Amino acid sequence: MSIEELARANVRALTPYQSARRLGGSGDVWLNANEYPQPVEFQLTQQNLNRYPECQPKQVIERYADYAGVKPEQVLVSRGADEGIELLIRAFCEPGEDAVLYCPPTYGMYSVSAEAFGVEYRTVQALEDWQLDLPAIAEKLDGVKVVFVCSPNNPTGQLINPQDLRTLLEMTRGKALVVADEAYIEFCPQATVAGWLAEYPHLVVLRTLSKAFALAGLRCGFTLASEEIINLLLKVIAPYPLSTPVADIAAQALSPQGIVQMRERVAEIKRNRQYLVSALQEVPCVERVFDSETNYVLARITASSAVFKSLWDQGIILRDQNKQPSLSGCLRISVGTREECQRVIDALREQPGLAATERV
Ligand SMILES: *Cc1c(COP(=O)(O)O)cnc(C)c1O
Repeated sequence: MSIEELARANVRALTPYQSARRLGGSGDVWLNANEYPQPVEFQLTQQNLNRYPECQPKQVIERYADYAGVKPEQVLVSRGADEGIELLIRAFCEPGEDAVLYCPPTYGMYSVSAEAFGVEYRTVQALEDWQLDLPAIAEKLDGVKVVFVCSPNNPTGQLINPQDLRTLLEMTRGKALVVADEAYIEFCPQATVAGWLAEYPHLVVLRTLSKAFALAGLRCGFTLASEEIINLLLKVIAPYPLSTPVADIAAQALSPQGIVQMRERVAEIKRNRQYLVSALQEVPCVERVFDSETNYVLARITASSAVFKSLWDQGIILRDQNKQPSLSGCLRISVGTREECQRVIDALREQPGLAATERV
């Protein structure tokens, strides 16, 4: 048997997540991974790397619980929110038996993780306005153990209607978990559903330090849920999921001063977003700019593939969303520095647009 044949069939068939880093490119304007555009400072205070780290570093857990307004027992810290997605599938889905469900167009890791564990993934296309198709979800819930809802949604940028989330939570009670992926919630903090955890024992909230906290390279994320769910996840998590330097830096990011700085970054990104959106609306090749509650903007662009390639060749790296259902012609642009936004606008202005009479 070849080594390839020794591997599990679902692993052989797997297409790995096309992360922005894997897709490569050589540019000086990186606007394809929703990162904060500039590095933030940190200090390493822990020198005792001869020792294993704590599985769930106490200070990080306490500070995050405080920040999120939940009890420390309701917080799990992991190697990014992506590991939270994996742990939920591993703890709740029997391979070959149970399923996860999500609503495209949305974040790509729900399917990649399900596939890696041999768990069926079921999709219910979002409505035209990218809200949940609740009747269609209700029809497909049989055997589903985990429903992923990304809000605000990546890559479309809008919030899921809270009333729809409540309806979903009612229809899944006692049957399945509902996971609200709040990776971008710092850009619209009033919209969090973390406050609903007391009402719904099957609600899970995912968070990360990768976006508003400007620490994508740190790999640190959080799962908020009932103590019962957290205890189940703790059974399947690695013994030392976070290295000592990661815990050290995460605790600093979550200090009162770290949180003030995060809020300043959010305010700055929102100002740049406003600038980017207004400027995009005046660019001939831009057909539509969608409202965003996040640090990225989705836009429908004439001849988007050619535009994407042209900007790529100029060192401006965006994210092509053209292949996602209902996103034909769409590019996602992370909000960078003011100068980076300007570079994108200048490059797009050079692209041919539709004549005024052809535009709708
Ligand atoms: C970036 C992102 C994540 C992953 O966050 P990490 O903590 O970097 O693993 C999860 N969900 C969504 C919707 C994201 O955009």
